[in-house]
Amino acid sequence: MTKNWKTRTTLVHEGIRRSQYGEMAEAIFLTQGFAYDSAEQAEARFIKAEADEFIYARYGNPTTRMFEDRIAALEGTEDAFATASGMAAVNGALTSLLRAGDHVVSARALFGSCLYILEDVLGRFGVKVTFVDGHDLDQWRKAVTPGTKAVFFESVSNPTLTLVDIRGVAEIAHAVGATVIVDNVFATPIFSRAVEQGADVVVYSTTKHIDGQGRALGGVICGTTEFVRKVAEPYMKHTGGSMSPLTAWLHLNGLATLDLRCRAMADSAARIATALEAHPKVAKVLYPGLPSHPQHDLAMAQMGSGGTLIAFEVAGGKDAAFRFLNALTIACISNNLGDAKTIATHPATTTHQRLPDDQKVALGISPGLIRLSVGLEDAGDLLADLTAALAAA
Ligand SMILES: *Cc1c(COP(=O)(O)O)cnc(C)c1O
Repeated sequence: MTKNWKTRTTLVHEGIRRSQYGEMAEAIFLTQGFAYDSAEQAEARFIKAEADEFIYARYGNPTTRMFEDRIAALEGTEDAFATASGMAAVNGALTSLLRAGDHVVSARALFGSCLYILEDVLGRFGVKVTFVDGHDLDQWRKAVTPGTKAVFFESVSNPTLTLVDIRGVAEIAHAVGATVIVDNVFATPIFSRAVEQGADVVVYSTTKHIDGQGRALGGVICGTTEFVRKVAEPYMKHTGGSMSPLTAWLHLNGLATLDLRCRAMADSAARIATALEAHPKVAKVLYPGLPSHPQHDLAMAQMGSGGTLIAFEVAGGKDAAFRFLNALTIACISNNLGDAKTIATHPATTTHQRLPDDQKVALGISPGLIRLSVGLEDAGDLLADLTAALAAA
Protein backbone atom coordinates (compact mmCIF):
# COMPACT_ATOMS: atom_id res chain seq x y z
CA MET A 1 0.00 0.00 0.00
CA THR A 2 3.03 2.29 -0.17
CA LYS A 3 3.22 2.57 -3.93
CA ASN A 4 3.46 6.36 -4.02
CA TRP A 5 0.44 6.44 -6.29
CA LYS A 6 -1.62 9.60 -6.44
CA THR A 7 -5.27 9.41 -5.38
CA ARG A 8 -6.82 8.84 -8.81
CA THR A 9 -4.46 5.96 -9.62
CA THR A 10 -5.11 4.37 -6.22
CA LEU A 11 -8.86 4.65 -6.75
CA VAL A 12 -8.69 2.75 -10.04
CA HIS A 13 -6.04 0.09 -9.35
CA GLU A 14 -5.35 -0.45 -5.65
CA GLY A 15 -6.26 -3.77 -4.10
CA ILE A 16 -7.22 -5.57 -7.28
CA ARG A 17 -7.12 -9.37 -7.00
CA ARG A 18 -7.40 -11.31 -10.24
CA SER A 19 -8.55 -14.90 -10.55
CA GLN A 20 -6.96 -17.46 -12.91
CA TYR A 21 -8.99 -15.88 -15.76
CA GLY A 22 -7.25 -12.52 -15.56
CA GLU A 23 -10.52 -10.61 -15.69
CA MET A 24 -10.14 -6.83 -16.20
CA ALA A 25 -13.09 -5.76 -14.04
CA GLU A 26 -13.07 -6.66 -10.36
CA ALA A 27 -14.89 -9.98 -9.95
CA ILE A 28 -17.88 -10.33 -7.66
CA PHE A 29 -17.17 -13.36 -5.52
CA LEU A 30 -20.81 -13.87 -4.63
CA THR A 31 -20.07 -16.75 -2.30
CA GLN A 32 -20.40 -17.05 1.44
CA GLY A 33 -18.16 -20.13 1.71
CA PHE A 34 -14.88 -21.48 0.30
CA ALA A 35 -14.02 -25.15 -0.44
CA TYR A 36 -10.81 -26.64 0.95
CA ASP A 37 -8.57 -29.13 -0.92
CA SER A 38 -8.33 -31.29 2.18
CA ALA A 39 -9.34 -31.60 5.80
CA GLU A 40 -5.78 -30.62 6.69
CA GLN A 41 -6.08 -27.44 4.67
CA ALA A 42 -9.36 -26.56 6.39
CA GLU A 43 -7.79 -27.15 9.79
CA ALA A 44 -4.75 -25.00 8.92
CA ARG A 45 -6.91 -22.15 7.65
CA PHE A 46 -8.96 -22.07 10.84
CA ILE A 47 -5.72 -21.84 12.83
CA LYS A 48 -4.44 -18.96 10.70
CA ALA A 49 -5.84 -17.66 7.41
CA GLU A 50 -3.15 -16.04 5.24
CA ALA A 51 -3.76 -12.86 3.23
CA ASP A 52 -5.50 -14.55 0.28
CA GLU A 53 -7.20 -17.33 2.22
CA PHE A 54 -10.86 -17.02 3.12
CA ILE A 55 -13.18 -19.01 5.37
CA TYR A 56 -16.60 -17.43 5.36
CA ALA A 57 -17.90 -14.14 3.94
CA ARG A 58 -18.81 -12.75 7.37
CA TYR A 59 -15.07 -13.03 8.17
CA GLY A 60 -13.85 -11.86 4.77
CA ASN A 61 -14.34 -12.28 1.02
CA PRO A 62 -12.04 -11.50 -1.95
CA THR A 63 -14.31 -8.76 -3.36
CA THR A 64 -14.78 -7.19 0.06
CA ARG A 65 -11.04 -7.37 0.66
CA MET A 66 -10.36 -5.52 -2.60
CA PHE A 67 -12.63 -2.73 -1.36
CA GLU A 68 -10.95 -2.68 2.07
CA ASP A 69 -7.45 -2.49 0.57
CA ARG A 70 -8.45 0.26 -1.85
CA ILE A 71 -10.08 2.47 0.74
CA ALA A 72 -7.28 1.95 3.29
CA ALA A 73 -4.79 3.09 0.64
CA LEU A 74 -6.98 6.11 -0.13
CA GLU A 75 -7.36 7.03 3.54
CA GLY A 76 -3.71 6.41 4.34
CA THR A 77 -4.40 3.85 7.06
CA GLU A 78 -2.77 0.45 7.43
CA ASP A 79 -6.04 -1.42 7.14
CA ALA A 80 -9.83 -1.23 6.91
CA PHE A 81 -12.84 -3.41 7.74
CA ALA A 82 -15.93 -3.09 5.54
CA THR A 83 -19.30 -3.08 7.31
CA ALA A 84 -22.95 -3.56 6.41
CA SER A 85 -23.80 0.14 6.85
CA GLY A 86 -22.35 3.37 8.13
CA MET A 87 -24.03 2.78 11.46
CA ALA A 88 -22.46 -0.70 11.73
CA ALA A 89 -19.10 1.08 11.31
CA VAL A 90 -19.83 3.75 13.95
CA ASN A 91 -21.23 1.18 16.39
CA GLY A 92 -18.39 -1.25 15.66
CA ALA A 93 -15.60 1.30 16.12
CA LEU A 94 -17.03 2.42 19.48
CA THR A 95 -18.41 -0.80 20.94
CA SER A 96 -15.42 -2.95 20.02
CA LEU A 97 -13.11 -0.57 21.87
CA LEU A 98 -15.14 0.39 24.95
CA ARG A 99 -15.91 -1.43 28.18
CA ALA A 100 -18.07 -0.66 31.24
CA GLY A 101 -16.50 2.15 33.26
CA ASP A 102 -14.87 3.83 30.26
CA HIS A 103 -15.41 7.52 29.54
CA VAL A 104 -16.07 9.01 26.11
CA VAL A 105 -16.26 12.65 25.04
CA SER A 106 -18.40 13.34 21.98
CA ALA A 107 -19.51 16.32 19.96
CA ARG A 108 -23.21 17.03 20.51
CA ALA A 109 -24.13 17.79 16.89
CA LEU A 110 -24.43 14.28 15.46
CA PHE A 111 -26.34 12.29 12.89
CA GLY A 112 -29.43 10.97 14.70
CA SER A 113 -28.39 7.31 14.82
CA CYS A 114 -24.89 8.24 16.05
CA LEU A 115 -26.55 10.20 18.87
CA TYR A 116 -28.64 7.12 19.73
CA ILE A 117 -25.50 4.97 20.12
CA LEU A 118 -23.69 7.56 22.24
CA GLU A 119 -26.64 8.71 24.31
CA ASP A 120 -28.53 5.46 24.74
CA VAL A 121 -26.64 2.28 23.84
CA LEU A 122 -23.24 3.02 25.42
CA GLY A 123 -24.85 4.17 28.67
CA ARG A 124 -26.74 0.88 28.99
CA PHE A 125 -23.39 -0.91 29.06
CA GLY A 126 -21.85 1.37 31.66
CA VAL A 127 -19.91 3.75 29.42
CA LYS A 128 -20.06 7.41 30.51
CA VAL A 129 -20.42 9.96 27.73
CA THR A 130 -19.81 13.72 28.04
CA PHE A 131 -21.18 15.90 25.22
CA VAL A 132 -19.51 19.12 24.11
CA ASP A 133 -19.98 21.74 21.40
CA GLY A 134 -17.58 20.23 18.89
CA HIS A 135 -16.29 23.51 17.50
CA ASP A 136 -15.22 24.80 20.93
CA LEU A 137 -11.77 23.44 21.86
CA ASP A 138 -12.12 24.81 25.42
CA GLN A 139 -15.07 22.52 26.02
CA TRP A 140 -13.05 19.50 24.79
CA ARG A 141 -10.18 20.54 27.12
CA LYS A 142 -12.52 20.68 30.10
CA ALA A 143 -14.32 17.42 29.30
CA VAL A 144 -11.35 15.16 28.56
CA THR A 145 -9.89 13.50 31.68
CA PRO A 146 -7.10 10.98 32.27
CA GLY A 147 -9.82 8.31 32.25
CA THR A 148 -11.13 9.25 28.78
CA LYS A 149 -10.82 6.25 26.48
CA ALA A 150 -12.11 7.74 23.23
CA VAL A 151 -13.40 10.92 21.63
CA PHE A 152 -15.94 10.90 18.82
CA PHE A 153 -17.13 13.55 16.39
CA GLU A 154 -18.27 14.24 12.85
CA SER A 155 -15.57 16.35 11.20
CA VAL A 156 -18.35 18.31 9.47
CA SER A 157 -21.66 18.05 11.28
CA ASN A 158 -25.08 17.28 9.88
CA PRO A 159 -27.05 19.30 8.87
CA THR A 160 -25.57 22.73 9.72
CA LEU A 161 -22.03 22.07 8.42
CA THR A 162 -20.11 23.03 11.55
CA LEU A 163 -16.50 21.86 11.49
CA VAL A 164 -14.53 20.25 14.27
CA ASP A 165 -10.80 21.05 14.33
CA ILE A 166 -9.38 17.52 14.00
CA ARG A 167 -5.81 18.54 14.84
CA GLY A 168 -6.92 20.54 17.88
CA VAL A 169 -9.15 17.81 19.35
CA ALA A 170 -6.58 15.10 18.59
CA GLU A 171 -3.91 16.98 20.52
CA ILE A 172 -6.19 17.26 23.56
CA ALA A 173 -7.28 13.60 23.33
CA HIS A 174 -3.81 12.19 22.72
CA ALA A 175 -2.45 13.99 25.78
CA VAL A 176 -4.51 11.55 27.90
CA GLY A 177 -4.06 8.57 25.57
CA ALA A 178 -7.64 8.61 24.21
CA THR A 179 -8.43 7.14 20.79
CA VAL A 180 -9.72 9.71 18.28
CA ILE A 181 -12.61 8.31 16.23
CA VAL A 182 -13.83 10.54 13.40
CA ASP A 183 -17.00 10.15 11.33
CA ASN A 184 -15.75 11.74 8.13
CA VAL A 185 -18.78 11.28 5.85
CA PHE A 186 -19.50 14.93 5.02
CA ALA A 187 -15.83 15.77 4.45
CA THR A 188 -15.35 12.74 2.14
CA PRO A 189 -12.01 10.90 1.88
CA ILE A 190 -11.17 13.17 -1.07
CA PHE A 191 -11.20 16.47 0.82
CA SER A 192 -10.11 15.30 4.26
CA ARG A 193 -6.79 13.96 5.51
CA ALA A 194 -8.21 13.09 8.93
CA VAL A 195 -5.50 10.56 9.78
CA GLU A 196 -2.68 12.96 8.86
CA GLN A 197 -4.43 15.52 11.06
CA GLY A 198 -4.49 13.23 14.09
CA ALA A 199 -7.46 10.85 13.81
CA ASP A 200 -6.72 7.28 14.90
CA VAL A 201 -9.84 5.68 13.48
CA VAL A 202 -11.91 7.04 10.58
CA VAL A 203 -15.39 5.71 9.83
CA TYR A 204 -17.51 6.24 6.75
CA SER A 205 -21.01 5.58 5.66
CA THR A 206 -20.05 4.34 2.19
CA THR A 207 -23.75 4.63 1.34
CA LYS A 208 -23.06 8.28 0.57
CA HIS A 209 -20.32 9.66 -1.77
CA ILE A 210 -18.44 6.36 -2.04
CA ASP A 211 -21.35 4.45 -3.58
CA GLY A 212 -22.27 7.73 -5.20
CA GLN A 213 -25.40 6.54 -6.92
CA GLY A 214 -27.61 5.74 -3.98
CA ARG A 215 -27.61 1.98 -4.60
CA ALA A 216 -26.24 0.17 -1.58
CA LEU A 217 -25.87 0.63 2.19
CA GLY A 218 -22.35 0.16 3.46
CA GLY A 219 -19.68 1.41 5.82
CA VAL A 220 -16.02 1.06 6.67
CA ILE A 221 -13.71 1.34 9.70
CA CYS A 222 -10.20 2.55 8.79
CA GLY A 223 -7.26 2.44 11.20
CA THR A 224 -4.09 0.65 12.19
CA THR A 225 -3.83 -3.10 11.52
CA GLU A 226 -3.79 -3.54 15.29
CA PHE A 227 -7.11 -1.70 15.73
CA VAL A 228 -8.83 -3.01 12.61
CA ARG A 229 -7.86 -6.67 12.89
CA LYS A 230 -7.49 -7.13 16.67
CA VAL A 231 -10.20 -4.80 18.02
CA ALA A 232 -12.83 -4.06 15.35
CA GLU A 233 -12.79 -7.22 13.20
CA PRO A 234 -13.43 -9.80 15.97
CA TYR A 235 -16.42 -7.73 17.16
CA MET A 236 -17.79 -7.12 13.66
CA LYS A 237 -17.37 -10.62 12.27
CA HIS A 238 -18.91 -12.30 15.30
CA THR A 239 -21.81 -9.87 15.66
CA GLY A 240 -22.73 -9.94 11.98
CA GLY A 241 -22.10 -6.45 10.68
CA SER A 242 -19.93 -7.38 7.68
CA MET A 243 -20.36 -5.94 4.18
CA SER A 244 -21.82 -8.14 1.45
CA PRO A 245 -19.57 -8.90 -1.56
CA LEU A 246 -22.15 -7.43 -3.92
CA THR A 247 -22.05 -4.12 -2.03
CA ALA A 248 -18.24 -4.18 -2.03
CA TRP A 249 -18.31 -4.59 -5.81
CA LEU A 250 -20.69 -1.63 -6.24
CA HIS A 251 -18.48 0.46 -3.96
CA LEU A 252 -15.30 -0.53 -5.85
CA ASN A 253 -16.92 0.91 -8.95
CA GLY A 254 -17.92 3.97 -6.95
CA LEU A 255 -14.34 4.51 -5.75
CA ALA A 256 -12.97 4.55 -9.31
CA THR A 257 -14.78 7.85 -9.97
CA LEU A 258 -14.88 9.23 -6.40
CA ASP A 259 -12.27 11.93 -6.89
CA LEU A 260 -13.80 13.20 -10.14
CA ARG A 261 -17.32 13.17 -8.71
CA CYS A 262 -16.52 14.88 -5.40
CA ARG A 263 -14.58 17.66 -7.15
CA ALA A 264 -17.30 18.23 -9.75
CA MET A 265 -19.99 18.27 -7.06
CA ALA A 266 -17.98 20.65 -4.85
CA ASP A 267 -17.38 23.01 -7.81
CA SER A 268 -21.13 23.15 -8.45
CA ALA A 269 -21.83 23.52 -4.72
CA ALA A 270 -19.51 26.54 -4.51
CA ARG A 271 -21.25 28.18 -7.47
CA ILE A 272 -24.71 27.46 -6.09
CA ALA A 273 -23.82 28.62 -2.55
CA THR A 274 -22.54 31.93 -3.92
CA ALA A 275 -25.73 32.45 -5.92
CA LEU A 276 -27.97 31.49 -2.96
CA GLU A 277 -26.17 33.96 -0.69
CA ALA A 278 -27.12 36.80 -3.02
CA HIS A 279 -30.76 35.67 -3.37
CA PRO A 280 -33.36 37.84 -1.55
CA LYS A 281 -35.49 34.82 -0.54
CA VAL A 282 -32.55 33.14 1.20
CA ALA A 283 -32.09 34.32 4.79
CA LYS A 284 -28.79 32.54 5.44
CA VAL A 285 -26.32 30.22 3.68
CA LEU A 286 -23.99 27.87 5.55
CA TYR A 287 -21.31 26.60 3.18
CA PRO A 288 -17.76 26.08 4.48
CA GLY A 289 -16.37 27.24 1.14
CA LEU A 290 -17.90 30.73 1.49
CA PRO A 291 -15.87 33.44 3.27
CA SER A 292 -19.04 34.17 5.30
CA HIS A 293 -18.91 30.72 6.97
CA PRO A 294 -17.69 31.22 10.56
CA GLN A 295 -15.09 28.48 10.10
CA HIS A 296 -14.07 29.23 6.52
CA ASP A 297 -10.35 29.37 7.36
CA LEU A 298 -10.46 26.06 9.22
CA ALA A 299 -12.40 24.49 6.32
CA MET A 300 -9.78 25.59 3.83
CA ALA A 301 -6.93 24.34 6.04
CA GLN A 302 -8.61 21.05 6.90
CA MET A 303 -10.38 20.17 3.62
CA GLY A 304 -9.15 22.59 0.99
CA SER A 305 -12.74 22.72 -0.26
CA GLY A 306 -16.21 23.67 0.90
CA GLY A 307 -17.45 20.16 0.14
CA THR A 308 -20.57 18.98 -1.65
CA LEU A 309 -23.27 20.00 0.85
CA ILE A 310 -24.95 23.33 1.47
CA ALA A 311 -27.32 24.31 4.28
CA PHE A 312 -29.51 27.37 3.74
CA GLU A 313 -32.53 29.01 5.25
CA VAL A 314 -35.48 29.91 3.07
CA ALA A 315 -36.99 33.19 4.32
CA GLY A 316 -40.54 32.57 5.55
CA GLY A 317 -40.09 29.44 7.66
CA LYS A 318 -41.60 25.99 7.16
CA ASP A 319 -44.35 27.01 4.72
CA ALA A 320 -41.89 28.76 2.41
CA ALA A 321 -39.42 25.86 2.70
CA PHE A 322 -42.16 23.39 1.73
CA ARG A 323 -43.29 25.55 -1.22
CA PHE A 324 -39.64 25.66 -2.33
CA LEU A 325 -39.25 21.86 -2.06
CA ASN A 326 -42.51 21.16 -3.86
CA ALA A 327 -41.52 23.42 -6.77
CA LEU A 328 -38.20 21.67 -7.49
CA THR A 329 -38.10 19.78 -10.79
CA ILE A 330 -34.50 18.46 -10.92
CA ALA A 331 -33.42 18.23 -7.28
CA CYS A 332 -35.24 15.39 -5.51
CA ILE A 333 -36.84 15.57 -2.08
CA SER A 334 -35.04 12.79 -0.23
CA ASN A 335 -32.64 12.28 2.66
CA ASN A 336 -29.56 10.54 1.28
CA LEU A 337 -26.49 12.59 0.35
CA GLY A 338 -23.43 12.30 -1.85
CA ASP A 339 -25.62 10.95 -4.67
CA ALA A 340 -25.20 11.78 -8.38
CA LYS A 341 -28.72 13.21 -8.11
CA THR A 342 -29.11 16.48 -6.23
CA ILE A 343 -31.11 15.97 -3.05
CA ALA A 344 -32.95 18.53 -0.95
CA THR A 345 -33.84 17.67 2.65
CA HIS A 346 -35.93 19.51 5.24
CA PRO A 347 -34.11 18.38 8.42
CA ALA A 348 -36.63 19.84 10.93
CA THR A 349 -39.47 17.59 9.71
CA THR A 350 -37.50 14.52 8.54
CA THR A 351 -33.98 13.55 9.64
CA HIS A 352 -34.10 15.64 12.83
CA GLN A 353 -37.87 15.52 13.44
CA ARG A 354 -37.54 13.71 16.77
CA LEU A 355 -35.22 16.27 18.38
CA PRO A 356 -36.98 18.40 21.02
CA ASP A 357 -37.54 22.01 19.86
CA ASP A 358 -34.93 23.51 22.21
CA GLN A 359 -32.26 21.18 20.78
CA LYS A 360 -33.31 22.05 17.23
CA VAL A 361 -32.81 25.71 18.11
CA ALA A 362 -29.46 25.00 19.78
CA LEU A 363 -28.25 23.12 16.69
CA GLY A 364 -29.53 25.76 14.27
CA ILE A 365 -32.16 23.49 12.71
CA SER A 366 -34.69 26.21 11.95
CA PRO A 367 -38.08 25.66 10.24
CA GLY A 368 -36.76 27.23 7.01
CA LEU A 369 -33.54 25.20 6.86
CA ILE A 370 -32.83 23.13 3.75
CA ARG A 371 -29.89 20.75 3.37
CA LEU A 372 -28.81 20.46 -0.23
CA SER A 373 -26.58 17.61 -1.41
CA VAL A 374 -25.30 18.84 -4.75
CA GLY A 375 -25.14 16.16 -7.43
CA LEU A 376 -23.54 15.70 -10.82
CA GLU A 377 -26.10 17.52 -12.95
CA ASP A 378 -25.12 20.64 -14.91
CA ALA A 379 -24.65 23.44 -12.37
CA GLY A 380 -26.52 25.92 -14.59
CA ASP A 381 -29.54 23.61 -14.80
CA LEU A 382 -29.47 23.19 -11.03
CA LEU A 383 -29.26 26.93 -10.43
CA ALA A 384 -32.22 27.51 -12.74
CA ASP A 385 -34.21 24.85 -10.86
CA LEU A 386 -33.34 26.31 -7.44
CA THR A 387 -34.05 29.88 -8.56
CA ALA A 388 -37.44 28.96 -9.99
CA ALA A 389 -38.32 27.07 -6.80
CA LEU A 390 -37.27 30.06 -4.66
CA ALA A 391 -39.53 32.26 -6.74
CA ALA A 392 -42.38 29.88 -5.85
CA ALA A 393 -41.46 29.99 -2.16
C1 LIG B 1 -25.52 8.49 6.74
C2 LIG B 1 -24.61 8.75 7.87
C3 LIG B 1 -24.33 7.76 8.82
C4 LIG B 1 -25.00 6.40 8.79
O1 LIG B 1 -24.73 5.67 7.64
P1 LIG B 1 -25.71 4.52 7.09
O2 LIG B 1 -24.94 4.00 5.92
O3 LIG B 1 -27.00 5.17 6.74
O4 LIG B 1 -25.86 3.51 8.17
C5 LIG B 1 -23.45 8.07 9.85
N1 LIG B 1 -22.89 9.28 9.96
C6 LIG B 1 -23.13 10.26 9.04
C7 LIG B 1 -22.47 11.58 9.21
C8 LIG B 1 -24.00 10.03 7.99
O5 LIG B 1 -24.24 11.01 7.10
